[in-house]
Amino acid sequence: MNAIILSVGDELVLGQTIDTNSAWIDQQLAAVGCEVIADAIVADRQETIEAAIRLAAAHADFLIISGGIGPTADDLTRHALAAVMGVPLELNEAWLARLESFFQKLGRAMPQTNRIQAMIPRGAETIENTAGTAAGIHVKSGISNLKSEIFVMPGVPKEMKIMFERDVLPHIRAKGGGAVILSRTLHTFGLGESSVAEKLGDLMKRDRNPSVGTTVANGIVSLRINARLPSRDEAQQQLDSTTDACRAALGDLIFGADADTLPSVLAASLASARKTICTAESCTGGLLAKMFTDIPGSSDYFAQGWVTYSNEAKHDRLGVSENILNVHGAVSEPVVEAMARAARRLAKSDFALSISGIAGPSGGTPSKPVGTVCIALAIPPVAPGGGRGKGGYQESRVSSRTFHFTGDREMIRDRSAKIALAMLRFHLLDKPMPF
Ligand code: AMP
Ligand code: MG
Repeated sequence: MNAIILSVGDELVLGQTIDTNSAWIDQQLAAVGCEVIADAIVADRQETIEAAIRLAAAHADFLIISGGIGPTADDLTRHALAAVMGVPLELNEAWLARLESFFQKLGRAMPQTNRIQAMIPRGAETIENTAGTAAGIHVKSGISNLKSEIFVMPGVPKEMKIMFERDVLPHIRAKGGGAVILSRTLHTFGLGESSVAEKLGDLMKRDRNPSVGTTVANGIVSLRINARLPSRDEAQQQLDSTTDACRAALGDLIFGADADTLPSVLAASLASARKTICTAESCTGGLLAKMFTDIPGSSDYFAQGWVTYSNEAKHDRLGVSENILNVHGAVSEPVVEAMARAARRLAKSDFALSISGIAGPSGGTPSKPVGTVCIALAIPPVAPGGGRGKGGYQESRVSSRTFHFTGDREMIRDRSAKIALAMLRFHLLDKPMPF
């Protein structure tokens, strides 16, 4: 079973309203094993809606349309549907009576324009709408010249959802052969999409079930695993075994699943280890501190953050020596190491992360081009007592690295903060960073 979702509205193609209806319907259909082969958006133009219905109805078992069945001149979906079916619009007396009593209860006469909402193509049936005045339209398969079974609902998300859940979904589920699609997303950071794909090998074959596909957003390469099987148990079993296979192929490159983010995963690790972190940032301007503190409950592990943007601030606030700043420059491993060491000491935290780099677009030099970023991690000394035992403060162990990021200012800052999180993550895993 497959479906095409059609959303109708000028506001959608103008980009003024985001088409959330199709995304929601996509999810509902996936859950009952109905494959969505296309989501389309069209303007409130009758000939365009007709063309879209004609095309979709030639390809899909189900065509689900939302929008364009209101009472105004720009609501043309019912006219387009009737034209494609080659039948006239007919008054549905029962719905007209509903409309009249609705307006009577409001103490108003029904505007004549609302009468159109009781008109449906000959041969079609109404779909109950308890939240609004527009009846939905149901064209069963086989009653028209069209291959698809068609459902039309109002565009208002609240009305559409009620109608879809009550009358459309059960119908599709009953015809859907009982297939179930279960999905899981695994997130990786550090390698590009093609390197991740290479490691996954045959797991990404197009005809595999469960299927594994990749998407990229802000440096995070995510694997989307979809298992489509006759029963929930089988789907769950297959989803789990493909998840295991992906984990085996990618190891610790996978940092989390589904709603996990790098900061949320680190937050959980720090909290469970009862460890605290502080930050000292230059080019990221507090972004790393923001990522840590975006997570509710961050006071359990986030101690303090410095934004030491100028050399003076690095010297005055963190005691980075003028000599180091002058000899190595603000973007250098000795400087970030000094920043991390000082931050950890001053915040009395278990860990400190520091970042200094050139986010651009200006400020690059031949030896330190835009995108050069130094990051340091300060950790407790090896000695027992964790660095702040009875004997007073013990000096940190510090490691640092220089990275070369590409992209614009926003990307360079984002990747810098994320790499810093990754450095801490691999330290907590007690493993070398694999990128
Ligand atoms: P309509 O049923 O075409 O009169 O749409 C009524 C309202 O619902 C519009 O003004 C939009 O605000 C909203 N709407 C329509 N279609 C969608 C959609 N696909 N996604 C989200 N909102 C929508
Ligand atoms: Mg509309």
